[in-house]
Amino acid sequence: MKSIFYFNTFELPRRAGEMKEYELPFDLTEAIGIDVIAVPVGDRIFVDLKIESVKEGVLVTAAVEATAKGVCTRCLDPIELELDRNFIELYRYESGKAHTKAERKRAREEEEDVDEDEELMMEGDEINLEAPIRDCLILDLPINPLCDEECEGLCQICGQKWVDLPDDHAHEVIDARWAGLSGLDF
Ligand SMILES: [Zn+2]
Ligand SMILES: [Zn+2]
Repeated sequence: MKSIFYFNTFELPRRAGEMKEYELPFDLTEAIGIDVIAVPVGDRIFVDLKIESVKEGVLVTAAVEATAKGVCTRCLDPIELELDRNFIELYRYESGKAHTKAERKRAREEEEDVDEDEELMMEGDEINLEAPIRDCLILDLPINPLCDEECEGLCQICGQKWVDLPDDHAHEVIDARWAGLSGLDF
């Protein structure tokens, strides 16, 4: 199936300097994120998209808003993280080559703000926004998300949250020989 992130730029005149802006919602058909925290499938993300005609293609400036959901890696409480990320990418015309020296120089200058990863290409009038949206959302996700920097996590023995337990909470270390009896009522 074709990615939901294809956008048709037919409204944008192919004249350098022309510009269009859009506010686009995308309902995710696949989660974006990492194991412990992700924007879940079915959730809606919003992209403020600005597309500009430049000599060699379409320059895309975007602000991506989404809510990532996951769990605190210390206490396992659910957490949500508001994401607000930006990217700038140049989508080159498929056959568009800069012919003159001056054009090539200008192309290089225009690219200085642009990420250096793999080249993105126009596909006819369409651009596929999936890779830059995915990358910019995943890039800053915490590998160990926390409900709070100060989260004290769980007692390793009973699994209760330290924050809910009395200060003197402790477990008696039960001698293995008696462990079998500890569940019985005398
Ligand atoms: Zn926590
Ligand atoms: Zn405990």
